[in-house]
This record gives sequence, C-alpha cells and structure tokens, in this order.
Amino acid sequence: MKISNYNFSGKKALVRVDFNVPLNDAFEITDDTRIRAVLPTIEKITKDGGSAILMSHFGRPKGGPEDKYSLKHLLKHLSSLLGQELQFANDCIGEEAKAKSAALKPGEVLLLENTRFYKEEEKGDKVFAKKLAALGTVYVNDAFGTAHRAHASTTIVADFFDADHKLFGYLMDAEVENADKVLNSAEHPFTAIIGGAKVSDKILIIENLLPKLDNLIIGGGMAYTFIKAAGGEIGNSLVEAEKLDLAKELVEKCKKHGVELYLPSDSVVADKFDAQANTALSNSDSIEAGWMGLDIGPKAIAEYKKVILASKTILWNGPMGVFEMEKFQEGTKSIALTVAEATKNGAFSLIGGGDSVAAINKFGLDEQVSFVSTGGGAMLEYFEGKELPGIKAIRNS
Ligand code: AMP
Repeated sequence: MKISNYNFSGKKALVRVDFNVPLNDAFEITDDTRIRAVLPTIEKITKDGGSAILMSHFGRPKGGPEDKYSLKHLLKHLSSLLGQELQFANDCIGEEAKAKSAALKPGEVLLLENTRFYKEEEKGDKVFAKKLAALGTVYVNDAFGTAHRAHASTTIVADFFDADHKLFGYLMDAEVENADKVLNSAEHPFTAIIGGAKVSDKILIIENLLPKLDNLIIGGGMAYTFIKAAGGEIGNSLVEAEKLDLAKELVEKCKKHGVELYLPSDSVVADKFDAQANTALSNSDSIEAGWMGLDIGPKAIAEYKKVILASKTILWNGPMGVFEMEKFQEGTKSIALTVAEATKNGAFSLIGGGDSVAAINKFGLDEQVSFVSTGGGAMLEYFEGKELPGIKAIRNS
C-alpha cells in the first residue's frame, strides 16, 4: 500500500510523526526540519478529504506529564507551517483524545499530547497501543527517526490495523527507497565515507557494507585507531585501545572483499582539543607526542576527492574532523563540497547520521546531494542490515 495511491477521503488517519525538535528557553523551535519533512503526508491526507491525528514523542520525560515536554509548544509554529489552525488534545489517550478525534471533520488536524508521558509507550505496551489505535481508521507511520524502536506508537499500534489500513508516509517511503537503492542496487564504483569519533559505533555498518563496496574512506577520530593498529605514531589522537585488533581485522576484511581502504595520509594536528589550539600539519602515522589529529590534512583531502569524484554511488556517515571548530572544519567541508560536485556529475549520494547531516546543513549543501536522511540511529541500524521494527510492522503484514 503506497501513500501516493491511497485515498484518505473520509478516513481518520492516525499519523506517527517525529516532532522531537529542539526548542530554546523561550520554547521556540530552533530547527524545524523534522516538522517540514512530514508536511507532504499531512497535506495529502487533508487534501484527500481525510483528517489527521498526529502523535509523537518529545524529549525524555520521566514517565509522566512535564510542561517543558508538552507538544503544545509546537502548535503555533505547526499551524503557520500548515496554514491552518490545529486542534490539540491534552492527552494522547482517554476521553478528550477520543472525543476530539471523533469530532474531526475532513481536512482538520489534531495533535495529541506527547506519547512518552506514558511509560507504556517505550515498553511497547499492547493495551496502550490499542487505545491509540482506536482513535484512527488508518495508521500512517512517517517517523523514520524512531523506526528502530519497538515502541507502542511506532510499531505495536500497527498490529491493530489490517494490511489495507497501515502504510508509510512520504518521508518514510523516501527514506526506505533511498536506503534500499544504496544497499541493494548501487551503481559502481560505490564509495562509503565513514567518519566520526569512534570506530566501535561504525563496525557493524562497515561490515555490512564491505561485500557491496568498491572504496571505503575513513576519516574523523576513528581513523587513528586504524593508524595505530598499523604501527603508526598518533600522539594524543583519539584511540580505542581495545579496538586495535578489530581495526586490523577490518583491514583484512577489506582485502578479502577487494575493497580499497583509504586512511588519511596527513592530518591537521593540534596541541589541545580546543578551538584556539595551536595547529600544524603532520603525516597521520608520525604525530608528535602531545599533539592530536583533529582533521584530515590537504593530502588526504586531495586523495579522497579523486576517489569520490570517480564514484557513482556515495554513502556518507560521520564528519572527517572536529568540524564544529573552524580550525578543524576544512576536511569535512571539502568532502561535503566534493560529494555535491560528484552529485552534480551524476552520482547518487546519500548522507546520513546526525553529525554528517549537521555538517552538510552547516555548509549549505543539503540541496546539492541526492538525499539527506532524517534518521540518525535508525539510518545506522538500517545500513547495519537490521530489520527495523517500525518498518517490519507495516511491510510484513
Ligand atoms: P559520531 O557521532 O561518531 O559521528 O562523531 C561525531 C563527532 O566526532 C563530532 O562531534 C566530531 O567533533 C568528532 N570528531 C571528528 N573527528 C575527530 C577527531 N579527529 N578527534 C576527536 N573528535 C573527532
């Protein structure tokens, strides 16, 4: 069942969205990307002549209502984005939610209060899920960011709808479609660019991708564990001492699968982890004691550029350095620009994982890559080859 072919006329669509957006102290939304991402789904429902009942988690309340985690803070902004007044229920189940859902007219939208005000949400409680399900006549999951959680509103609720009455929203559809394109039908050469702080977070994704890849480019703090494992001197750079053997194993696995592995030949090094630190350039395998690699260097950038520009499929997860600090952003910025250039030349590029998405946005390049995933943990797990419960609940029915 595809949302593009579905007719919501006369239906009450219970829509799981991810409205877990950042707020400032005045309860203003500082980044509304997640809200904008689900507008097409809501608009499709209302334009078809259906009504939408929106449910989401918000923050990490400790098992009961807390004003700072109330979704009511989003109402004004949401109304202005949708161009219509929204209704609000002070609870996601119970009499008020029931009455307001029942009274919804075609074209109207109701926002339910934070699902995580009930501990049953994260427990995936069936009784709670059934109460949510009773509010709608069709279930739409458009919350890719929480698809890796078997929570009541993301997964269990789907059990109460038959196959003709549960479907993905447009965002979820696009996420799954683009991820599948990379995982199952990547054009070659296929290059993965993996960065970020720790190799331990990225082992599973690397292992799952190896049989499919032509090139694996490593950057960020995790590169130094590989460099040390190969006998390099890395000074004070980030290292996971207990992962040295694993790094060696991954190098062997790359060879076995015929994957070309690229580690940064040089680094921007600093005398402390600080935006104002003194900096210098060094070969990555001979970093002086007291210094640490905080970005890939110009030689590495030039090498990586060549590989990226020759690729037809590019998956990027994790920054090349401490891009939050200006002195160490050049590597990440150059790679972002190169991915954009490769995309312009016809490559398919998918960017995913919180920090690489933050980087691509920071450099204003989000429109110049093929797809930017909204799901951090969910995207990682999908690329690790796991079947996400929120996806399974709809797909396998
Ligand atoms: P991750 O969440 O694992 O993708 O890691 C992202 C974080 O890694 C960012 O906050 C970066 O500042 C940090 N990072 C990237 N490169 C380095 C490095 N060479 N040393 C220390 N931290 C790094």
